[in-house]
Parts: sequence; structure tokens; C-alpha cells
Amino acid sequence: MSLDKPALRRALLDAEPWLAATDVGPQAVDAGSCDACEDAPRLLPLCGPAGADAVCRRCALDLGDDGWCDGHLDEGRAARRWAAQLPDHWGDATVLWWVATGELRLGAIADVSTTALPAPVRELLPAVE
Ligand SMILES: [Zn+2]
Ligand SMILES: [Zn+2]
Repeated sequence: MSLDKPALRRALLDAEPWLAATDVGPQAVDAGSCDACEDAPRLLPLCGPAGADAVCRRCALDLGDDGWCDGHLDEGRAARRWAAQLPDHWGDATVLWWVATGELRLGAIADVSTTALPAPVRELLPAVE
């Protein structure tokens, strides 16, 4: 099974334009699970007293200002507002983005729920057992 990664990146950006952000979102953090809950993917980089490097949306919203240092409180609030308006399938789109960039192996697709993703994205995904 092969995957056309550039085509998947294009389809994802077309369907989920928020993935293009570089200071927040999957391009701003190392691929992997949230440092706090280890459940959802990482979404936002942190720099605050909470100590975590990058967390998922729910943990970022739970941490609030504690996730950011005094000098970045405004950026943190903007990042949380940005995260709060993402579609609920942000985690699935994030994992697919990392597969499309080669940061995660193709097998990571097995953990993704594709039902909320648009057809042009789904059609590019190989069947993973
Ligand atoms: Zn989390
Ligand atoms: Zn900071």
C-alpha cells in the first residue's frame, strides 16, 4: 500500500485550512501525544509554569494562562481561542497531517476516525488493517 503524501497534504489543507498555521497546530509541535493527558494529539506549544512542552486542545483550555509564561499570555489566549474554534475532528486531521508529512508512520492511520473527514481526503487513504 502506498500513500501519495503531497496529494494528501493538499487535500488536507483544502479541507482543513487551519492546518496551514505554523505557530499553532500540528506544524508548531513535534508529532505525538499530548504531554499532559497522553490521550489526544499535541496541538499547541506551551512555555509556561505548567511545564508541558505541547498539549492537546482540552488540556490547553484546562490549563488556561498556566500554559504560557508571563511574556506570552496574549499569545496563549489567542492560541486557545484558535483551538476552541477548530472542528471536533481536529485530532484525526492532525494525525493525518503528520502521516502526510512523514512525521508519523502510515500505520498511524489505523487510529484515525475518518468519518468526519471529507471525501477528497478519505479517498487518498490506503486501507490499513
Ligand atoms: Zn491533553
Ligand atoms: Zn512564553
